[in-house]
Amino acid sequence: MDIRHERFSAASRSGLRYGDAALRLEDVSLEDVAASVATPFYCYSSASIRSAYERLSQALAPVGASICFAVKANGNLSVLSLLAELGSGMDIVSGGELERTLAAGAPAAGIVFSGVGKKRGEIRDALKAGIHQINVESAAELDAIADVARELGLRAPVAFRYNPDVDAGTHTKISTGRKDDKFGMSGEEILDAYARAATLPELDVVGLAVHIGSQLLDLEPFRQAYTHLANLVMTLRGRGLSVTRLDLGGGIGISYDGGPAPDVEDYGAIVSATLGGIGCALTVEPGRWLVGPAGVLVTEVLYLKEAGETPTVIVDAAMNDLMRPALYGSLHAALPVRQNEVCGDRPVRIAGPVCESSDIFGTYAGLPALSAGDLLAFTCTGAYGASMASTYNARALVPEVLVEGNRFRVIRRRQETAELLVLEEPTQWQIAGLAAEGRAVR
Ligand SMILES: *Cc1c(COP(=O)(O)O)cnc(C)c1O
Repeated sequence: MDIRHERFSAASRSGLRYGDAALRLEDVSLEDVAASVATPFYCYSSASIRSAYERLSQALAPVGASICFAVKANGNLSVLSLLAELGSGMDIVSGGELERTLAAGAPAAGIVFSGVGKKRGEIRDALKAGIHQINVESAAELDAIADVARELGLRAPVAFRYNPDVDAGTHTKISTGRKDDKFGMSGEEILDAYARAATLPELDVVGLAVHIGSQLLDLEPFRQAYTHLANLVMTLRGRGLSVTRLDLGGGIGISYDGGPAPDVEDYGAIVSATLGGIGCALTVEPGRWLVGPAGVLVTEVLYLKEAGETPTVIVDAAMNDLMRPALYGSLHAALPVRQNEVCGDRPVRIAGPVCESSDIFGTYAGLPALSAGDLLAFTCTGAYGASMASTYNARALVPEVLVEGNRFRVIRRRQETAELLVLEEPTQWQIAGLAAEGRAVR
């Protein structure tokens, strides 16, 4: 879990820089944001998101592929609106994300519904809203979609999620395209289901989808998956079935540690080489690549602990705010918010206050000597940061802030502890029991 503290390489697309000795996101000093909203908080750069979207669009322009942002990476309404304004469609995985996306003002006609276990109520809401496409993950789910469409008197546009049995070479918890992963259907299963679905009037069978995993640092698995996909298209067409749309999934990796990461231009070239002439409308569903580099999680140093070999710095952010280190062993580079060229002489371990031994951000070399009150920014936390947060240890959800040039705006305020408690109710028997003792709950 050792990383070198590399000042900017980890965050080259982030919009971060030092100015007047303070770390800035675009032209906003993170010290000013901290003074306004208190720590911990997430802060996102609009310019970073916008330029990522534009660069990916350009890379895909030769094949005419459209982009559906994977909402689960960062579902904040303002982030979704920003992407919708740029022309992005949305890839959702739940009824909650459907509501969220529509609330952000994104058009239903640009929504693709993915996910391995859609409930009938979710399918109903999606069809009623008039979404672009539902990606089917099993024969059983196909039946559910057909039932719901029939009940509603609507025609459901469906694509089959193909599991091409390709190892994405990424963390096992975010690999989704091997045959034993729970996602998608084998080519054999699809051949049967596709032909059957094509006979049902309540279904409009439009094509295929793949998504082999997340944080792919090697593009070869994409080439393999898209080659298998092209073959399946040919087989289906050979059987007289029409295939008009292909959804190529997300998964393009980003550099968290300054190491090499794929270029979207190379990704675009692979799409072009494997599927360019296939005569289908192409869509990609990136999440992390668009928003990951755009975010920082800013935290304050609370205490220094000298026990053990490596000193531990306790900060006020924790695994409930940013789950990736505890969940995947990921490392996010940490930058001092107050610029300091003098490196401390020993690596330090940075830990949060949550009562779990996995609540560790990592071991960092090259940070300045830290004291209580210093601010640190964990970089590349715009994807799967705030969206994965929980309230474990009764820690309230932290604010999210959006920067645009020299302006910043709180786009989600800090949750109040009282808001955590409102869903909970004492039982009648507890109330009665306490009343008998002359006490009351709350
Ligand atoms: C998670 C997911 C994505 C986005 O993955 P990234 O690695 O964030 O690009 C795209 N499509 C589907 C079906 C997903 O589950």
